[in-house]
Amino acid sequence: MSFCKKGKDSDVYVFVGSKIECNDCSLVEDYSFTCETLPEMLEHLKQHSLAGHKVPKKAICSIKADCLPENYILPCFHCEEEGTLEFLKLGEHFQVQCKDCGCKGPLASNREVAKTFWNRVMIR
Ligand SMILES: [Zn+2]
Ligand SMILES: [Zn+2]
Repeated sequence: MSFCKKGKDSDVYVFVGSKIECNDCSLVEDYSFTCETLPEMLEHLKQHSLAGHKVPKKAICSIKADCLPENYILPCFHCEEEGTLEFLKLGEHFQVQCKDCGCKGPLASNREVAKTFWNRVMIR
């Protein structure tokens, strides 16, 4: 699974294999930075940003969302702590919705994934 690939909007290629790796990395001598945990990779990506490299915000958000404890669900960013979240079931799909403002997360095949998708959207 990769968080981002090199391209127009990204100077880094980060993926998860047996370890978490920043491949073809311009910051380390042997061109590959590996670490065991996502927070370490976030720290590493911060170094890339500081060096003026492009690190996609989407990748940072995904990594942050994956760092959250299991079953943790972020509050709705429109309503902060006030919004009440619920799971909607639409045919085969699940979706998290905020009852207060009505905003919805992406559709997913199960509740777990719906929660992960929601967290990725809510992290900024
Ligand atoms: Zn790197
Ligand atoms: Zn809301």
